[in-house]
Amino acid sequence: MTFIITSTCLDLKDMSCVEECPVDCIYEGGRKLYIQPKECIDCGACEPVCPVDAIYPDRQLPAENAEDKEDNKAFFEIVLPGRDAPLGSPGGSMRVGNTEADTPRIAALPPNPDVE
Ligand code: SF4
Ligand code: SF4
Repeated sequence: MTFIITSTCLDLKDMSCVEECPVDCIYEGGRKLYIQPKECIDCGACEPVCPVDAIYPDRQLPAENAEDKEDNKAFFEIVLPGRDAPLGSPGGSMRVGNTEADTPRIAALPPNPDVE
């Protein structure tokens, strides 16, 4: 099991979840955050602090967010814009910083109407 950040996080990125994660496995994209499924220890600490309920354990992911599961994984497996290799499992988001990149699906989504 892992935890998933859904596209509800889009354009919001208040970073509360990053501060709670004991293993630093929540990585910053350009428009949302992504959890590295191989690094997540399933502690659940991130889920309650998200102000918009964007985080779910994968087995409780709402059907309408099914694509977000593959997308979280893909973020670490594809070559993101501006890079020459996949991120893979860097072992900590602090050393990576803001990637300023997203998966093609997330990059193509319209602006989040709930974010000013
Ligand atoms: S469940 Fe725990 S380890 Fe996984 S992303 Fe959330 S805070 Fe980090
Ligand atoms: S706390 Fe929620 S909205 Fe904020 S960055 Fe994390 S997942 Fe996104």
